[in-house]
Amino acid sequence: MSKIKLEGFILYKTKFQNTSLIFDFFTREKGRLSFIAKGALREKSKFLGELEFLNYLHVFFYYRENKGIYTLADTELIKSSEYIIKEPDVFFKLGELVSFIRKTIPQKEKHPEIYDKFKIMLRGIRNGKSYKAILYFFYFFLKFLGWKISFNNQCQCGNSANLNYLDYSNGSFSCNKCKKGFELNRNFYKDIEMLIFGNAKNLFIDKNKFMDYYLIFKKYLTYHIS
Ligand SMILES: [Zn+2]
Repeated sequence: MSKIKLEGFILYKTKFQNTSLIFDFFTREKGRLSFIAKGALREKSKFLGELEFLNYLHVFFYYRENKGIYTLADTELIKSSEYIIKEPDVFFKLGELVSFIRKTIPQKEKHPEIYDKFKIMLRGIRNGKSYKAILYFFYFFLKFLGWKISFNNQCQCGNSANLNYLDYSNGSFSCNKCKKGFELNRNFYKDIEMLIFGNAKNLFIDKNKFMDYYLIFKKYLTYHIS
């Protein structure tokens, strides 16, 4: 058995037997892994401050394929998540997104493409572009899970104007007359298309739009998972 080192993010942590922590760690190479950090809550623990929600770090441990939970040997903090806590609504939405990740991705199932976008999202938040970063991630998260949004420029009926409905059963847009699916903010199509395929730098997303678009993605996801 040899010690290995992996980088990743802490998605969840919970206290275990007074002084220890159990946490869920999202890695690129091996997906989500469960760890126990023994004595992590003791005053002199070497893990103190390292195992916070969404901290980005290296973990060192002995890997065996068939283990359910790994014992943490050592850590090396890469980036603390302090920057996230400064924005309460961002923090809340991130917490919700993380719970969706944990709900939809089973442990040890590899999703490097989701991991990469997750990392990009956190960098965006750090750089003060929280709204765009979260929406960008949410779009790809849905897509990689098999629920993409197809930017069809025509409704099934042939109409190419007023595509203000999103059909959650297949991710396509429909027009004001057909009304298939959920009614959207009129700018959703244009803004999200610009965010994903266009010049996202010139796109401005205010708080209202963010809340609105986030909710559309969330409804699309919950349509399929609940
Ligand atoms: Zn139509």
